[in-house]
Amino acid sequence: MLEIDHAEGIYFHTADGRKYIDLVSGVSVSNLGHAHPAVINAVKSQADKHLHCMVYGEFIQSPQAGYAGWLADHLPAELDNVYYVNSGSEAIEGAMKLARRFTGRPDIVAFEKAYHGSTSGALSILGDNKFRSGFLPLLPGIRHGTFNDPDGLDLITEKTAAVVAEPIQAEAGIIEPENEFLSLLRRKCNETGTLLILDEIQTGFGRTGKLFAFEHYGIVPDILCLAKSFGGGMPLGAFVSSNNIMKTLTFDPPLGHITTFGGHPVSCAAGLAAQEFIEQNGLIEHGKEMGEMYRDLMRHESILNVRGKGLFLAVVMNERAVMEILMKKIFDKGIIVDQFLFCNNAFRIAPPLVITEDEVRLSAGLLLEAIEESLI
Ligand code: PLP
Repeated sequence: MLEIDHAEGIYFHTADGRKYIDLVSGVSVSNLGHAHPAVINAVKSQADKHLHCMVYGEFIQSPQAGYAGWLADHLPAELDNVYYVNSGSEAIEGAMKLARRFTGRPDIVAFEKAYHGSTSGALSILGDNKFRSGFLPLLPGIRHGTFNDPDGLDLITEKTAAVVAEPIQAEAGIIEPENEFLSLLRRKCNETGTLLILDEIQTGFGRTGKLFAFEHYGIVPDILCLAKSFGGGMPLGAFVSSNNIMKTLTFDPPLGHITTFGGHPVSCAAGLAAQEFIEQNGLIEHGKEMGEMYRDLMRHESILNVRGKGLFLAVVMNERAVMEILMKKIFDKGIIVDQFLFCNNAFRIAPPLVITEDEVRLSAGLLLEAIEESLI
């Protein structure tokens, strides 16, 4: 267990003077690295102006309005309405409520091995029976398909309010869509009048080599869920949709979703500062190149393959690697990585996008050493 004293760039510094390379980014949160001056300055300057003001929507708060404007400028035209919340789970809750309310339909389809959060609604669509089973009964009307299986799309009918999917499945071990799966999903949603909710809570904001992962696949969701790196290291989430869909939360009943701290002004200021810095400094392209470097470097007889896009990678090991030993060896070499919830023969490489070529080389070398030392 580490006691973190401070963190900077891709490094954690512990209270007892050790230094660790962060290849997790707090699970896709710290895209701009730790304690980046652009974010710290935005936090300080917003804190000097005001913190929390009012529950939600009564006042115009410029950090919220400014960040929503930036998002609208960077998203397809139909995604022009941002509803700020506190977390990824709350974004998923809001999106599911919105889809049910807009369509008037009860059912939701999600996918096996998907993680969408831990609140009751998000847990209901989580694609793993073991995780759900301790908390039954959960929401009714939920069906799970298999990601990348076109036959499973038959679960989507005219009773389905929404399909919730990650464009690239994260906790399944970074599983990319294959054979136009997302296009087929989009088409099926169009045919049945079902809303497509994309969870870009891990994949968003440059992690996969584009601002949003859905851009790789030529589709646009009806509702987009954001969190994690959205707040630049501060807690923030949102669900984003069209004005036409979103306005159904304003009547029958009015105040269809209420959240005291959603869109906290300091979080919005931090998030916007992070995205602007990333954009102005070409860090998405840089992250993509660093991801390609890892792919070139992470070659070993016990590595089956490296899956993913950009700096959203899974190193998949063969049966000669004992994951428990490997994870300990990696840690002992001063590197923080972690495993996935639903894939036990892989570990994650998802460092801050600011990682340099030298740091990629250094960390990949240490990972390979750890792999070599942990073989049976
Ligand atoms: N969706 C995905 C893909 C996630 O990885 C997570 C968190 O790990 C969530 C939703 C839930 O986000 P939060 O932990 O902010 O509630």
